[in-house]
Amino acid sequence: MTHPDYQIVQLASLGTAFDEALADKYRVLALWNDACATEKLAAATDASLVITSVRKGLSRESIGHLPALRAVCSWGVGYETLDTEAMAERGIVVSNTPEILDDCVADLAWALLLTAARRTNIGDRYVKTGQWKTIGAFPLSTRVWGKRLGIVGLGRIGLAIAQRGTGFNMQVRYHNRRERPDSPFTFEPSLLKLAEWADFLVLACPGGPRTHHIVDAAVIRALGAKGILVNIARGTVVDEQALVAALENGEVGGAGLDVLEREPAVPEPFLHMDQVALMPHVGSATHETRHDMSRLVFDNAVSFLESGRLLTPIKE
Ligand code: NAP
Repeated sequence: MTHPDYQIVQLASLGTAFDEALADKYRVLALWNDACATEKLAAATDASLVITSVRKGLSRESIGHLPALRAVCSWGVGYETLDTEAMAERGIVVSNTPEILDDCVADLAWALLLTAARRTNIGDRYVKTGQWKTIGAFPLSTRVWGKRLGIVGLGRIGLAIAQRGTGFNMQVRYHNRRERPDSPFTFEPSLLKLAEWADFLVLACPGGPRTHHIVDAAVIRALGAKGILVNIARGTVVDEQALVAALENGEVGGAGLDVLEREPAVPEPFLHMDQVALMPHVGSATHETRHDMSRLVFDNAVSFLESGRLLTPIKE
């Protein structure tokens, strides 16, 4: 059986317009709907480029099926599901979609922070179910402006979150592995101390093994009974069982979570907690930003196939 010398293996569909434009321009082996995608990779021995996403990832095993692979263009900014070590061993370059999603993810972090503090989700239900009429005044909530905002991971998204904090007249500190001399915000080398100091602790660092459960029971307790945790990073950054226990015991005030440890599974206790606001991992999910992300994957692929250069390569 002969194969049509595929140029690209596409493991993730990035919308009809993207998929059609790519197939018009290149010879594409499209495997996003295929349960046996890994076995089918053998048909693409000539393919030099893979298109994937942070959800679909790319394993060492899959890379092993693609002897001509030279570049990977991934949709999304996180890349913990891509085996970058296996790629580096073969000199395969990788791009993601940074910067264009920073503001939308920061907006969502703020939506969750405000929801968890001012209880807008509960207030909405209160009005719609007629409780305003039958019960009367809504319980008091937590002030946001002028409070202390701690950011874990002051990178591109963390900075956009911090900048919004200054608009709320907040003091802002952050924890990274290294201080950012270019930032006006105060560096806190200890995550525990940042949590003790903060009223709101917002997580914006990468996922993966290096940040697994860095927000543990001690950090959550340090945030305190009035403190609110917001996570738009990755579910794995937080010890979810410890968070559930701290919320149940009133050791932490509340949480706003866009990401969970075992998505789309939701820990059952969260479903009954008014002090927890949940979103289904939609930080970048606006029409405008999703369009820009797909466009950037496309432009990276074209740039690599035509000039051997990625526009937004990952720098580890
Ligand atoms: P970035 O610019 O690379 O920033 C990441 C920041 O995290 C850096 O400042 C880094 O500083 C810090 N960091 C890394 N490891 C750390 C550690 N062990 N402890 C503390 N800080 C650490 O990345 P970004 O573009 O802002 O994206 C950040 C993350 O947001 C992504 O990796 C992804 O997981 C998440 N995200 C979520 C959504 C969503 O839909 N919810 C959307 C997009 C992105 P140092 O290197 O100095 O430590």
